[in-house]
Amino acid sequence: AARAVDVWKVYGTGEAQLAALRTVNVEFERGRFTAIMGPSGSGKSTLMHCLAGLDTTSRGEVYIGETRVTGLGDKGLTELRRDKVGFIFQQFNLLPTLTAQENILLPLSIAGRKPDRDWFDTVVDTVGLRDRLGHRPTQLSGGQQQRVACARALVSRPEVVFADEPTGNLDSRSGQEVLGFLRDSVRQFGQTIVMVTHDPNAASYADRVVFLADGAIVDELHDPTADAVLEKMKTLDKVGEHP
Ligand code: ATP
Ligand code: MG
Repeated sequence: AARAVDVWKVYGTGEAQLAALRTVNVEFERGRFTAIMGPSGSGKSTLMHCLAGLDTTSRGEVYIGETRVTGLGDKGLTELRRDKVGFIFQQFNLLPTLTAQENILLPLSIAGRKPDRDWFDTVVDTVGLRDRLGHRPTQLSGGQQQRVACARALVSRPEVVFADEPTGNLDSRSGQEVLGFLRDSVRQFGQTIVMVTHDPNAASYADRVVFLADGAIVDELHDPTADAVLEKMKTLDKVGEHP
């Protein structure tokens, strides 16, 4: 699970000050797939970065599982990022000189840890990369590269996987494969996933959608359909309009 309690994030100082998050309270439950939606600049990436210990909060507290991230020192943060969280980005962020297998195992090799072979096999089979393990990123399609990134995020069995627009650079078919795989990892392994997306169809793969606007959580939907998400986005847009 991941939790934000009364979180504020303020960038800059003086005239240039900007509150990217204002009193955000939210819990991302264990074994659930949550999508975060909201307009560009509403604070989605900032919230993820604060939760994952990639950025500090200005006020409030964040937790990953039982770990209080707020106030951790450098050593604690390094361990958190290495052991407790996994990341999937819009740009796949694979190392071009490494094979798919080496990319997947990179977080473990950096930590000096041996992979659990059975788990590695399970993850590789789930993302359907068995016959691509020796390929380098340039020899893989975009969808395959993102599936390598998914496997890399899961291989250390993190408490939470954060995905920021994981399908933003994929065609709709590859996007659906990646989303299907993310959903499977929630159903089959109890993985906790938090995903930022602009796409109502992508959000419909989640168990719950949380809507951010101007740094605050303004609404949520459970068991969303793409149509329900689209309707909600329209009503939220209207709230921002001047009469
Ligand atoms: P998008 O959908 O475009 O990715 P987002 O919802 O992820 O948007 P954030 O990246 O969280 O938005 O940014 C929220 C606000 O904070 C924006 O106004 C942005 O300009 C500002 N911001 C983000 N990072 C920084 C930074 N490092 N320094 C100053 N301001 C920042
Ligand atoms: Mg963003």
